[in-house]
Amino acid sequence: MSAVDELGVTAAAPYGPALHGVAGGELTIGGIPAGLLAERAGGTPFFAYDRALIAARVAEVRAALPGAVELSYAVKANPMPAVLHCLSTLVDGLDVASAGEMLAALDTGVPPARIAFAGPGKTAAELRQAVAAGVLVELESATELARLAKAGEELGVRPRAALRINPPFAVRGSGMKMGGGPQQFGVDSEQAPALLAELGCTGVEFEGFHVFAGSQNLDADSIRAAQRATVELLAELAGHAPAPVRYLNLGGGFGIPYSARDRPLALGPIGENLAELLDTVVRDRLPLARPVIELGRYLVGEAGVYLTRVVDRKESRGTVYLVVDGGLHHQLAATGNLGRALRRNYPLALAGQVDAGPDGDEVVDVVGCLCTPLDLLGKAVSLPRAEPGDLIAVFQAGAYGLTASPVAFLGHPAPRELLV
Ligand SMILES: *Cc1c(COP(=O)(O)O)cnc(C)c1O
Repeated sequence: MSAVDELGVTAAAPYGPALHGVAGGELTIGGIPAGLLAERAGGTPFFAYDRALIAARVAEVRAALPGAVELSYAVKANPMPAVLHCLSTLVDGLDVASAGEMLAALDTGVPPARIAFAGPGKTAAELRQAVAAGVLVELESATELARLAKAGEELGVRPRAALRINPPFAVRGSGMKMGGGPQQFGVDSEQAPALLAELGCTGVEFEGFHVFAGSQNLDADSIRAAQRATVELLAELAGHAPAPVRYLNLGGGFGIPYSARDRPLALGPIGENLAELLDTVVRDRLPLARPVIELGRYLVGEAGVYLTRVVDRKESRGTVYLVVDGGLHHQLAATGNLGRALRRNYPLALAGQVDAGPDGDEVVDVVGCLCTPLDLLGKAVSLPRAEPGDLIAVFQAGAYGLTASPVAFLGHPAPRELLV
């Protein structure tokens, strides 16, 4: 989906209307005009996810990565049941980070052997559920190991485990760092040998390792360097493991562009690097390992659009405000309040009139309906003149949208979600 010019520079991503489609000047999603989708949804605001774009994205990743690499979907990016079911038919496994996500993943029919359960603070009760279900538990601490072993003894079922490692390095360029230095995630690599020895004395079955050190990365070189360092580290730790490494989860962290300044991630170099690693370190030192890449945002983020209707148009001391019926209670990330150092507008458009109007565009602020200045969807956005009743589309909304937003804040209704 990314165009590369002669200099090998990836061009700005075709997101928004260029990615989704336009018919008669109106935005389409999954080939359906936005206005008609709003009628189908029974009103605004709502999220629409395009299943063809999700499938195309999975195909693109598969084409770029070596065939031996398994692709896993991180459910927390978008757990809508229909989206989850759609992805469950396209990927090799599901990554869950709570017992609730685990149950949703099991509901899709994906075999428990293909579900991995990560995340800090797993309680004895949750681990018991995981053991009963037969999913792979990615251990984040010594406490979790003790709880897991106990659950296995009580249930008479052998628990399956991988050790999540906090590497000694951070991944450059990650929007969110989850590895390197002190972390609440995983076990520090220097503590791993002792814990592996301990694991060997329990009834827990050791299957391998998991490293997930960062998210939202657009720099292929950083991802390559991290994958290389990760494979080297895990090959080293494999020498301390009580059994051969069969599961080798190298994380992911592939990012998507959220503004015109962001360049799309180049998958090609990542695939080449992985192929090289499989042919050398993995083949020589981890011969039984099946490598896994786990992706959330990259698979679903661009497939989703948040649609909200203008309810008021007002002017205050020279600034035009479009007040919409949605806001940060549904799409927190677009307002810059979900872990962004610098607030930048998500791409957005007037859905009914994607190109400039007859009188050109005007510069407006698009704000949500919550009574807080944080509810800012677009600052100084250039749009055709919009009136109450018009639909605004906020793009790149398929990941970390509804379930990563404070839906109860201010007591407005929850949005619908459609998979089209
Ligand atoms: C959140 C998370 C992911 C998914 O991250 P994305 O940036 O959405 O790809 C993958 N693995 C783990 C362990 C996570 O916590």
